[in-house]
Amino acid sequence: MAGTGHEWGYDGEAGPANWSELSDDYHVCGAGRQQSPINLTDATRANVDRVTTRWSAVSDFEVVNNGHTLQANMPEGSISLVNGKRYELLQFHFHHQSEHTVDGEHYPMEAHFVHKSDDGVLLVLGVFLDAGQENEVLAPIWAVAPKSKGTARVTATIHPQDLLPQSSAHFTYAGSLTTPPCSEIVTWVVYEDPIPASDDQISGFAEVFPHNNRPVQALNRRQILQGF
Ligand SMILES: [Zn+2]
Repeated sequence: MAGTGHEWGYDGEAGPANWSELSDDYHVCGAGRQQSPINLTDATRANVDRVTTRWSAVSDFEVVNNGHTLQANMPEGSISLVNGKRYELLQFHFHHQSEHTVDGEHYPMEAHFVHKSDDGVLLVLGVFLDAGQENEVLAPIWAVAPKSKGTARVTATIHPQDLLPQSSAHFTYAGSLTTPPCSEIVTWVVYEDPIPASDDQISGFAEVFPHNNRPVQALNRRQILQGF
């Protein structure tokens, strides 16, 4: 990578086990006690605050292969609310296979919807993708997705809301970015029900990103809550 970035990846010397060694800025990847992803199990049922998503349809947006994932950058105008706090949807991107596990099992893929509040707190909604019918929302994104580092535009209209499962059942816990610098500033909400993607869509992504998932991290002294 040009410039000052410390190149990290998912294999060998630059892989997850060594992220904290690659740069002083990545120290918390190794020393942190609230890292993500985690195995979601033994959750405590609770009356947790629901996430209200107020996302707009988008009809002209950028899709970036940044070498680590495929990311769709959202125009302004989509927000989510949790207990009255407002978070703006900035982008969503994908991992293969899933980063979180449920009772020790991976799904084929996981989407992350990254939001930020005005005071810099991140809210990430995680949605598992499982093999099933073709996903019509993903189709126009996959159709233009660059197979190497680069940027493309989607001009079809999509409704990102349609990438959420119908059930609002979810896990929630306090965690981190799953990529360097692994900052522990993320409220995670991971939906229990997966959405479908076709075998072709999953294998198409896997050809470009064979495994861009960080292994699960220690739970340490955290609680996983389960809301409905
Ligand atoms: Zn992610």
